[in-house]
Amino acid sequence: MGLYDVIIVGAGPAGLGVASQIEGKVLLIDKRKTPYKKIACAEWVPLSFPAKGVQYIERVVTVYPGGTVYNHWKGKIIDREKWQESIVMSLHCDIHFGEKVEWVERGIVKTDKGRYKADWVIGADGAVSQVRRAIGIKKPSLLPAVNVRVKAKKYIKETHIYFMHEIEKGYGWYFPKGEYANIGVGCNRNLKKTLYFFIQFLFSKNFIDKNISSVSFGYIPLSGLLKLVKNRVILVGDAGGFTDPLTGAGLFQAWDAAREVARVIKGEISPKEYENLMHKTYGKFLKRRYEKRKILEEKWRNLKEAVEKSWISFFQE
Ligand SMILES: Cc1cc2nc3c(=O)[nH]c(=O)nc-3n(C[C@H](O)[C@H](O)[C@H](O)COP(=O)(O)OP(=O)(O)OC[C@H]3O[C@@H](n4cnc5c(N)ncnc54)[C@H](O)[C@@H]3O)c2cc1C
Repeated sequence: MGLYDVIIVGAGPAGLGVASQIEGKVLLIDKRKTPYKKIACAEWVPLSFPAKGVQYIERVVTVYPGGTVYNHWKGKIIDREKWQESIVMSLHCDIHFGEKVEWVERGIVKTDKGRYKADWVIGADGAVSQVRRAIGIKKPSLLPAVNVRVKAKKYIKETHIYFMHEIEKGYGWYFPKGEYANIGVGCNRNLKKTLYFFIQFLFSKNFIDKNISSVSFGYIPLSGLLKLVKNRVILVGDAGGFTDPLTGAGLFQAWDAAREVARVIKGEISPKEYENLMHKTYGKFLKRRYEKRKILEEKWRNLKEAVEKSWISFFQE
């Protein structure tokens, strides 16, 4: 059995964030052979996010039954594949890609290929976390979402959010990325049919070419922050419920929390301090966003009112 100081499960932003900031005998495991490829993500981040922007965004445009709202919020679209791949290439730890973690118990990580023991196990395995399940933390409700990369027909420096009855209890997005665009939907029902509808819609508006270069599917955790530490296992990123339940954005929080997990490993703060700090920083914020998400769902039949009572364009944090 391999012995390690730290085993990190998941090579997404959260796991890579931890792996790139710690030393010692570290093992990074991911079930995918190339976890930095075909990632389900619209790739929007705030300007302060530490990855190069490939497209800068000057405003957010929300289209809904009440009209169109413009918010001058700046951000950037990154190339997640290149960014994550470059981090993987810079790591000095042991890397086991194409290996799935099946269970974690008393510091022992059991995979489909072997068993390893560590002082710390980091659950960075995303929204449907197996590590979280193994330590008995309840699964949050999840919103299915799909992102498609298409050729863009218009060069714009704004992201578009569409609230439409056809995209049930969710929304559609159009995020430009140079000559391409990330488009997609997150919704409660008929994801495939809804996506097809949305592609047709954007096509009819002459926003996109119908040639699709990649389709990727994922889940967005909706309940807000969970319990993060149990029996020398620490949850981070989507596994810990860091994602904004209203907008679906989770990259910034995953990276930010990873830095704090690295501090725990380095002995700079205790696991309890990590848990407290994260709940202080994000707990209330994510709870409020979850409440807004519930309003959007409950009032969905009157979509104009639902959006005005819940969406970020209509309230101040
Ligand atoms: C369609 C979509 C669009 C999104 N758009 C945005 C956006 O524009 N901006 C934004 O900020 N956020 C966005 N998000 C959210 C963002 O993608 C996540 O918050 C972010 O990826 C969380 O990072 P993570 O490292 O916690 O998890 P992930 O990126 O999900 O990484 C988890 C890793 O764990 C691995 N794994 C899972 N289970 C196991 C196992 N049992 N054993 C081994 N490995 C395992 C997976 O293969 C994966 O590589 C979007 C999400 C979706 C679904």
